[in-house]
Amino acid sequence: MSDAAIALAIQELVIANRIMAHENVIDDFGHVSVRHPLRADRYFISRSRSPELVTREDIMEMTLDDEPVEQNGRPMYKERVIHSAIYKARPDINAAVHHHAKEVLPFTISEGAHAKYRPVMHLAAVLGANIPFWDSQDDFGDTNMLIETREQGDSCARALADNTCLLIRGHGANCVGRNLREVVFIAVQMMENAKILLNSLPLGPVVYLTPGEIEQTRNMQLGGNPMTRAWDYRAARAGFRGI
Ligand SMILES: [Zn+2]
Repeated sequence: MSDAAIALAIQELVIANRIMAHENVIDDFGHVSVRHPLRADRYFISRSRSPELVTREDIMEMTLDDEPVEQNGRPMYKERVIHSAIYKARPDINAAVHHHAKEVLPFTISEGAHAKYRPVMHLAAVLGANIPFWDSQDDFGDTNMLIETREQGDSCARALADNTCLLIRGHGANCVGRNLREVVFIAVQMMENAKILLNSLPLGPVVYLTPGEIEQTRNMQLGGNPMTRAWDYRAARAGFRGI
């Protein structure tokens, strides 16, 4: 039973990596992780490899101090501190995505644009009503722009607080979910909402979803069946049809 739970978590993590790549949420850089299903103080993440290429053999088990349980000479993502900091700060969260989706980036770059990034269509209600913004300059001044120290990971997790998505200046975003299916859906919708917003903003003032609409729609979407349907669709598009 325990081995089966771990094998399933690893299989879904591989599929989640491939979906993120296929949908262009993540290209050569960026990563996906899942909390260990039996040990809350550990998580699984690929070795340092682009998600398009991730296989079962690439998946590594990590402590929440980002130490590999068995490294076997494999290189590791420098930004894995993003994931451990989230798992330490959020017992309700079991999966995380860090991405640099090109459609989301303008909202982290143009001055004040992050305030314009909120859900505008029903499927994006899963992003939540509040999407905070993190600027590495605030705590760390000039850096190499990677989030690679424990302090930087913790700072990001504090900025995320109890929300679902975090915009990161000149870099990308973090998304979290209660499971991999949720976080994959959220990351895809984060990118889609950005595309729609970029097309809508030049047309005139934008009508955003209201907090009440977001709450009701979000609860409905995260309720089970929509997540299974979306996961099956995205997994098929990523090459896992009919398994
Ligand atoms: Zn990054």
